[in-house]
Amino acid sequence: MTDCIFCKIVAGAIPSRKVYEDGDMFAFHDINPATPVHFLIVPKKHIDSLATATDDDARVLGRMMAMAGRLAKQEGATDGFRTIVNTGRVGRQDVYHLHIHILGGPNPLPRMIAKE
Ligand code: AMP
Ligand code: ZN
Repeated sequence: MTDCIFCKIVAGAIPSRKVYEDGDMFAFHDINPATPVHFLIVPKKHIDSLATATDDDARVLGRMMAMAGRLAKQEGATDGFRTIVNTGRVGRQDVYHLHIHILGGPNPLPRMIAKE
């Protein structure tokens, strides 16, 4: 077992509140939700980040995006949501197992990112 926290969640070695699972991906609620709906979709295969993903990962990453709308609706984000993939130091990525954040209302989210 690697030391990766999301690999451990995928393997069931660390508990999570599961949203969805299939052969390619695992989705679970964020432990520290930023919005009323906030869950993560991760590939079951360990990929560090979008910065290191390759063409071989395209099918699974595409499936994760294609599944986002269905899962967002299932979790109550029925009128839109935001997807975020933080990448690397500049992207403020904390967990180095690629993940898509799905963030939803009920109320509209702040516009994009604050200017510093
Ligand atoms: P990021 O900054 O994009 O790498 O975000 C990592 C996210 O993982 C944060 O929103 C954390 O709250 C979330 N997170 C960290 N550990 C866990 C965990 N054990 N279960 C669920 N979410 C987690
Ligand atoms: Zn991992």
